[in-house]
Amino acid sequence: MGICYSLDNQEEGRPTSQANQQNRAYSTKIPTKARPDLPTYIALYSYHARTEDDLSFEQGDHLRILDNTRGAWWLAELLLSKNHIGQQGYIPSNFVAKLNSNESHLWYVGRIPRQAAERQLMNNHNSIGSFLIRESESRQGDFSLSVRDVDDVKPLIFLYFSLLIYKTAAYKQGLTSSEHYKIRKLDGNSGVYIAKRVVFPNLQLLVQYYQSNADGLCCQLTSSVAQTENAPITEGLSYRDEWEIPREQLTLHREIGSGQFGCVYEGQWNGTHQVAIKQLKKGMMDSQDFLREAKIMKELKHPRLIQLYAVVTVSEPILIVTELMPNGALNKFLQTPVGQTLSQMELMSMAEMVADGMSYLESKNFIHRDLAARNILVGNHNICKVADFGLTRVMVGADDYQPRDHQARLPIKWLAPEAAHYNRFSTKSDVWAFGIVLMEIITRGRVPYPGMSNTEVLEKIQIGYRMPKPIDCPEHLYNIMLECWQSQPEKRPTFETLMWQLEDGAPESGYREAEMFMR
Ligand code: ATP
Repeated sequence: MGICYSLDNQEEGRPTSQANQQNRAYSTKIPTKARPDLPTYIALYSYHARTEDDLSFEQGDHLRILDNTRGAWWLAELLLSKNHIGQQGYIPSNFVAKLNSNESHLWYVGRIPRQAAERQLMNNHNSIGSFLIRESESRQGDFSLSVRDVDDVKPLIFLYFSLLIYKTAAYKQGLTSSEHYKIRKLDGNSGVYIAKRVVFPNLQLLVQYYQSNADGLCCQLTSSVAQTENAPITEGLSYRDEWEIPREQLTLHREIGSGQFGCVYEGQWNGTHQVAIKQLKKGMMDSQDFLREAKIMKELKHPRLIQLYAVVTVSEPILIVTELMPNGALNKFLQTPVGQTLSQMELMSMAEMVADGMSYLESKNFIHRDLAARNILVGNHNICKVADFGLTRVMVGADDYQPRDHQARLPIKWLAPEAAHYNRFSTKSDVWAFGIVLMEIITRGRVPYPGMSNTEVLEKIQIGYRMPKPIDCPEHLYNIMLECWQSQPEKRPTFETLMWQLEDGAPESGYREAEMFMR
């Protein structure tokens, strides 16, 4: 169990290559007592070892980091845990945070827009007083506190009820709102406060104070907002970051879908980790071309993109290993009974996640070329991630295709006119496709241009036709779609703009001050 360490190599804290080749027992552990400077981290999520080099740990465990020089996987030792104290092994660095840092608290959510914070607070798992702290959008370095509260407009309805009945009724009927407070910093970073009369050395103490006493806030803080996301995706399958893996390491369990490239299976890597395995049809891609492209795709890492883990390309069929998304493709998910009952707020949140992922691709100058709801995958808590980016480029014949020859397999209804007619793909043709995705989302999975053939769509788009606004589609959302469908690509917005437009500009207004008189 573990890695063989050479004491000579301790300074760098790296395993020797010889050690890598030997059996993987920790013959010599890093003597942590000799390194009091090593920082302590706390586990934000549990992690179960996937290889014998890994270290399993539970949420809340304390770990000492022995080597953080190997990118996304760090060598660590368990310090405080229900089991295996003293054990060493590799851990995914995005599962831990420095002890007592802001990031180590569940209430700290980093830089998310105000509307996203509100949506998170309105999650059914939260109650009155649930809260989060986020980085301020308008003033870098400042923070905002968002709290779930009872809606203060509604109390009139319940005027005759006792406070307890009112609160229960209001809660059950979803009559809740969220309040936002700016957390300001004293000059020189010497303290933080909401109301200047009570200043705290750090956010943690500020939270503790308002958890014991509302002191002017709309209500006393209770618990951290419920987590809507599961543990993050690790960078690669293990610290070794093997890209080309042996076919034998994969077990295909059941087919979960198929597309123009081949079949997709739910399976396991190394008998430990659930993954999705796409098995490409023979002759679909040149393996060298594919490998070149896949290497670029692997470097694209963002919480709203499907993480590519590994490939098998040495022989056909080529296999692509990615993270597994339990709710499958977005278009199908929206057609399910669950999808059909999603609120507009939830649908908008899904659209924002897609824009977020696409905005990242845009920043990397990477063109998706096949953005459509079928290529967006849905995980737990309706988390959406963009999939299949770049794959169409390496399809055999993709470089020299003539639209007429290939129309049968082109996703015509998602293609911008310049892409359909002149094979001109760009981030702006992705933006056009995003407009179609918005329509798919708001119509809960309806096929675009219902009743129209591909040829008809191509012809009508050229003469200015655009899909009409569905009855229940908000005006501002339809306007965003029309922006995406501008004939001239350069007039279409960027994904970054789209993201903020969908979040409604996220103005930093609507803040409350802690009420001084309530002390
Ligand atoms: P096309 O090949 O035209 O892009 P497609 O995206 O539907 O169509 P695939 O990417 O092969 O084709 O996926 C087929 C189906 O497999 C998807 O619709 C989805 O239901 C399922 N699937 C694909 N990847 C995953 C994944 N990582 N996790 C869960 N399900 C997946």
